[in-house]
Parts: sequence; C-alpha cells; structure tokens
Amino acid sequence: MIASQYVIIGAGFAGAATAYHLARRGVKNILLLEQEKVAGVHSSGRNASMIRQVVPENAVMRLAKEGAAFLRGLPSDWQIPVDFQRNGSLLLGSGEGWDRLSRDAEMAREVGIEVESWLPEKAKDYVPVLKEANFDGAIWCPTDGVVDIHALLSGYLKAAFSMGTQIRYSCAVQGIEVQDGRACGVLTAEGLIRAETVINAAGPWAAVVGKMAGAVEAPLRPCRRHLFVTTPLPWVDPKWPFVWDDAHGIYFRPDSGGLLLCPCDQDEMAPGDPPTDSSVAELLAEKIRQRFPGIADVAIRKSWAGLRTLSNDGRFVIGWDSKVRGFFWVAGLGGHGVTTSSAVGALAAGLILDPSERRGGPFSPGRFAS
Ligand SMILES: Cc1cc2nc3c(=O)[nH]c(=O)nc-3n(C[C@H](O)[C@H](O)[C@H](O)COP(=O)(O)OP(=O)(O)OC[C@H]3O[C@@H](n4cnc5c(N)ncnc54)[C@H](O)[C@@H]3O)c2cc1C
Repeated sequence: MIASQYVIIGAGFAGAATAYHLARRGVKNILLLEQEKVAGVHSSGRNASMIRQVVPENAVMRLAKEGAAFLRGLPSDWQIPVDFQRNGSLLLGSGEGWDRLSRDAEMAREVGIEVESWLPEKAKDYVPVLKEANFDGAIWCPTDGVVDIHALLSGYLKAAFSMGTQIRYSCAVQGIEVQDGRACGVLTAEGLIRAETVINAAGPWAAVVGKMAGAVEAPLRPCRRHLFVTTPLPWVDPKWPFVWDDAHGIYFRPDSGGLLLCPCDQDEMAPGDPPTDSSVAELLAEKIRQRFPGIADVAIRKSWAGLRTLSNDGRFVIGWDSKVRGFFWVAGLGGHGVTTSSAVGALAAGLILDPSERRGGPFSPGRFAS
C-alpha cells in the first residue's frame, strides 16, 4: 500500500498551484493524482488565458490582484519562462451595467488595483473597431493581460516536482477512504493510497469527489462556455487590450493574428469533455452585430468549449470540509482560476499548514453545511 501525507486530486490550476505552494513551504510528502494522461486537458487548458482583476466580488478581486502580481515577478524557484502580455483590459458598460462597473472600479482602487474610468471616445481611439459600439464608459486596467496558460501550468508542476512532489497521471481517484469521520486515503485502480490529508482540486468533478467522501454538499455547477478564433485579420493590432462588454456578455482580444471571441454562454453540463453546440456560433454572430458592429465581418477558423465550475454565491470553495476531517477543498474557481491561481494555491497551502486557520474565511466550504 502506498502512503503520502498529502494527496491532491486534479492537476489543473487549483491542484498544481496548491502543490507548488505546499512544496515551497517545505512540504515533501505530496502526491498529485490526475486521471488524464497529461495536465491541462480540462478547464485549465481550454480557457481564454486572460488575467482580469476587476471583478464584482471583493474577496476574489483581492486574489486576482495577488495572482497578477505573482505573474509580473515570478520567484527564483520558478524554472520556466511564462509569457505575460500586459496589454491591459477595457471593460465596457452602459446604463445600470456602467453603474455596476463603476462601483467595481471604485472597489478596485480601494484594493490597490490601478484603474481609470474612460469616456467612450477615449476607448474608441484606443481600439478603433469600437467606433460604432454603443456604451456609456469604459474601465481601463493597465496591469491586466494575457498569459501563456500552458507554460504557467507546466511551471507550477515543474517547480513542485523539483521540490519533491510526486505526480501520477492516468490515475483516477474512484473513492475516498473515510474512517471515524476522517479522510485517510483514496482508492484508485492500483489500490488504496493512504493519506493524512486529501485535497479535492477536481475542477468540474469537485462535487463528485466531495460526494465520494460524504463531505459537505457544495452547490458547484460545471457550466459550458465556447471560445472562437477568427482567421488572421490585417486590421487587428496585437497590442489591443481585451475588451469585455460585461452587461451584454461578449468579449474579444487579439489572438494568432486575428481575434479570440466569446459570447459568454453558460449552460450547465455534467463534468467531462463538453460537446460543442453550433447554435452558440449564431449567438456570437448576433451579439457581435448588436454590440461590436465594427468586427461583424469575421470568419471563424476554430472553436472549442470548456467548463467553468461555479458556486451558487460566486465565491470559490477553499478550506477544510466541515463534515469530514482531513478533507480539504480547492474548487469552484469559476471564470477566474488562471488569474487567481497563485493566490489560490498560497491561500490553500496557508490554510492547510496553519492549524489556527482551520475554520472560517469567505471561501469556507462550511458556508454550505446544513
Ligand atoms: C471558456 C473558458 C474561458 C475561461 N477564461 C478564463 C480566463 O480568461 N481567465 C481566468 O482566470 N480563468 C478563465 N477560465 C476559468 C479557468 O479556466 C478555471 O477557473 C480553471 O482552469 C479551473 O482549474 P481547476 O484546476 O479547478 O479545474 P481543471 O483544470 O478542470 O482541473 C481539474 C482536474 O482534476 C482532474 N480530476 C477530476 N476528477 C478526478 C479524479 N477522480 N481523479 C483524478 N483526477 C481527477 C481532471 O482531469 C482535471 O485535470 C475560463 C474557463 C473556460 C471554460
């Protein structure tokens, strides 16, 4: 029988960053288990790669700020370069949407994130394809940008590995061993792996893994979202920021000489490899016509879909389970798991290692205990 002090389930951003931060705090006995042959097959390899700090939830915004700062100055134990294009972001708003965005920007200033409120004219000068777009104002965040997600994920895993973390691929956790109300191992096809702490970083499967342990029933919903990439477009400036019309749910950014576009669709799905739905391309075309007529004539070269795992209150689920001792959650990262990854890993490692941090906090799974 194999034994490990910490077993982490899932090698996406949640699991990889938690392993990395545990390892850099001196923990040696970590085993990271991933059901796929490689890391990043699911949400962590299928997202839009954007680092966005201005979000409606204060506690998430703080993690986003810390996550972005980490990318700007990677520490000395980091081993591979990670391209982080700091082109900034422009968040557009109109009507009540603009009031909401202005409040978020005010909160960002209080948190210490650099933001400016721009009149539509200034945003249209900066990104000329917005000329015909209709909005009341824009929030400019110059320290946002686009990161190489594959290098970032590999970076966490490589650094964790070099500090002693073991990583096993093609190893699905099929059950959680619980004795006297305490998690004490995981069941795999190779048998039982004993552990003092079991960490649930299973992304879209987090609720399933929670059930295996008989843990708190966290209301986590995997929701599908599509991304589209156009053919190369000579008029796209690769230095443009990402542009996001929050209230109408559409964003675009430069990608591979063309644009990456998203209609912010959100359909609940079972965990897995979500099928693409051709009707979402029509939704995108309609939203472009309505919100960004300046980019109406684009041809789509490829598209794909991934799952964002959302909690019902929009907050992450990070902390010790309140029903099963020794069972820890790092899940429900929704649409912010890349941006916040380092901060999430650091928070999780801190909560795991510091016994005085055993309860509470805005992300505590205990908030779902009935
Ligand atoms: C279309 C889209 C766009 C997005 N855009 C952005 C963005 O621009 N910026 C941003 O910050 N975030 C974005 N996100 C969100 C971000 O991708 C996620 O928050 C993040 O990847 C979640 O990481 P995770 O580790 O929790 O999940 P995952 O990456 O899904 O990792 C979970 C892992 O657990 C493994 N696993 C599950 N069950 C088991 C088991 N029983 N045994 C072993 N292994 C198991 C899975 O195989 C998987 O590899 C986007 C998401 C989507 C879908």
